[in-house]
Amino acid sequence: MSRIETAPDHTQGDLTERLLAGLPAEAVLTDPDITASYANDMASFCPAGAPAVVVLPRTVEEVQHVMRTATALRVPVVPQGARTGLSGGANASDGCIVLSLTKMDRILEISPVDRIAVVEPGVINATLSRAVNEQGLYYPPDPSSWEMCTIGGNIGTASGGLCCVKYGVTAEYVLGLDVVLADGRLMSTGRRTAKGVAGYDMTRLFVGSEGSLGIVVRAVLGLRPQPPQQLVLAAEFASAAAACDAVCRIMAGGHVPSLLEIMDRTTVKAVNDLSHMGLPETTEALLLAAFDTPDPAPDLAAVGALCEAAGATQVVPADDAAESELLLQARRLSLTALEAVRGVTMIDDVCVPRSRLGDLIEGVERIAEKHQLTIGVVAHAGDGNTHPTVCFDAADLDESRRARESFDEIMALGLELGGTITGEHGVGVLKKEWLAREIGPVGIEMQRGIKQVFDPLGILNPGKLF
Ligand SMILES: Cc1cc2nc3c(=O)[nH]c(=O)nc-3n(C[C@H](O)[C@H](O)[C@H](O)COP(=O)(O)OP(=O)(O)OC[C@H]3O[C@@H](n4cnc5c(N)ncnc54)[C@H](O)[C@@H]3O)c2cc1C
Repeated sequence: MSRIETAPDHTQGDLTERLLAGLPAEAVLTDPDITASYANDMASFCPAGAPAVVVLPRTVEEVQHVMRTATALRVPVVPQGARTGLSGGANASDGCIVLSLTKMDRILEISPVDRIAVVEPGVINATLSRAVNEQGLYYPPDPSSWEMCTIGGNIGTASGGLCCVKYGVTAEYVLGLDVVLADGRLMSTGRRTAKGVAGYDMTRLFVGSEGSLGIVVRAVLGLRPQPPQQLVLAAEFASAAAACDAVCRIMAGGHVPSLLEIMDRTTVKAVNDLSHMGLPETTEALLLAAFDTPDPAPDLAAVGALCEAAGATQVVPADDAAESELLLQARRLSLTALEAVRGVTMIDDVCVPRSRLGDLIEGVERIAEKHQLTIGVVAHAGDGNTHPTVCFDAADLDESRRARESFDEIMALGLELGGTITGEHGVGVLKKEWLAREIGPVGIEMQRGIKQVFDPLGILNPGKLF
């Protein structure tokens, strides 16, 4: 599906001229120095091509014009949000139109009665979160990149985040979509009602489709009442295995934390080195648990006791919301901090059943030792979603090779443990071969069939997923 069907001859000039017929001049970028800066998202080891043109539409009609042009000339289109993706899903292909949705960034409606927000795809996650908070509402999906990433990108990758252990991931909050199809037609999916089962769930199909089925131009998102500010507890452990044991005890005990995260010693040190936050570096694993109930004290006490039973060497509840926020900031900085360790990282995204979390982390330690590499582990532990982050020097070819091998071995281990190769970052270019291993030939065949229906010419984000 990565090959474009029968491309008619056209020049760069034809393409630009046709695009300019329906877009203002400032929305069409052709300077190669500028277009090259749109080639990549934030993933390492992912090939990217040179875009022919970058377009920055502001209206649905402009997006439709872009897609009609692309269909007429058989030009590939790569939709992009903020390009914080970690799988190469937003990487350009040679000669493509990069369709950046960042200028379509209006919040169109917030309805406390219907508990929904209607937004354009370029709205930044944190901007939406703050806007709904002002009305006593809450949009839960909170990737650590929330200050940068867009709602369109969150939908494209089916993003998760820190509070998903209690509130669920992006898919749970996307109620309806407006999508511009490959040929420029506009399709509405889903609903703005509390319930609705009319026909196939096309909305869910688009969530996580990585720009391969259509361009999201408007989204109806479900909201919740804003919970009280969460209070965080930090527990230190002498081994990552003991921290994982605590996670199992907490979940088996019926607790519903609003956040349950693990940072290993490498990650804690990296965060300290970057931010001088003074996190405890003697610990092998730091577990953060939070509750956002009106009175979190009893839950925090119960969870603290479970941590001690699992062997925690120290359990420290945050004094107040400000201290809690500081701990969350440390957690959100983890991936950026690990990147500073050797210059480059490959960030795995393996999600395993919670009961196998300890086996995964132990396996990652073995893989790091075998390849003589630093692999920091940070995890949405309550979801079993881990980010073993391989740190390496890209200038060292042997180290780069070992990094890639470790990255792959971690995915193999995840599958062996009954998990998935990606809990929230998506397949993109990075894990294409692995998708086939996870879902098998029949799964791939059916998914290709769906792609064929939506994108018969193969122009939408070619070369991604499979
Ligand atoms: C420091 C850091 C921390 C991160 N933490 C998390 C985390 O906690 N949880 C998590 O899930 N992810 C995390 N990520 C990954 C990334 O931020 C998310 O995948 C995010 O959802 C990407 O949003 P974006 O706007 O940058 O999208 P992009 O990277 O630009 O695009 C992502 C995908 O969506 C497609 N797409 C974008 N817009 C549209 C559209 N309008 N219509 C159709 N397709 C579209 C693209 O083609 C691409 O396939 C992190 C990344 C970084 C750098």
